[in-house]
Amino acid sequence: MEYLTENSAETKEVGIGLSQQLKLKKGALIFGLKGDLGAGKTTFLQGFAKGLGIKDKITSPTFVIMNRFPIKKGKFRNFYHLDCYRVENYKEIENIGIKEIISDSKNIVCIEWPEKIKRIIPKDVPFIRFDILEGDKRKITIDYGE
Ligand code: ADP
Ligand code: MG
Repeated sequence: MEYLTENSAETKEVGIGLSQQLKLKKGALIFGLKGDLGAGKTTFLQGFAKGLGIKDKITSPTFVIMNRFPIKKGKFRNFYHLDCYRVENYKEIENIGIKEIISDSKNIVCIEWPEKIKRIIPKDVPFIRFDILEGDKRKITIDYGE
């Protein structure tokens, strides 16, 4: 699925859209968000979290790798936002209990810079790609994999 957006509000709308079509699966529902700095990954997740009924503002965690937000309605219980841009060693991620988090089907886990922690991400995880086009235009590609 491919979307073209012209401003951050439109990117948030695409995030809201995705939040409305989530299905429970065996482990956590995981999405990897790929794209350069400033491409709109966090902006997308602001919409996504809003769509889940989360009131807190999603920001780029600078000093922490991960933030957890409780989900009050629906099938899921927790939204985890990870930003692995600064992760150098996948042990850092192991130490925060990632294995338990991704094995719980009540969790939604969105990971910016999933390339940095490849070895702990299941192979069938869907990726969302953000490409910066001219000006404020962005291309968002959701690849559900198989
Ligand atoms: P990332 O998390 O990928 O590093 P952010 O979402 O933090 O990116 O930042 C995206 C920046 O680009 C924000 O400053 C946002 O206002 C700006 N922007 C401009 N156009 C768009 C767009 N179409 N979609 C998303 N963000 C946009
Ligand atoms: Mg970000």
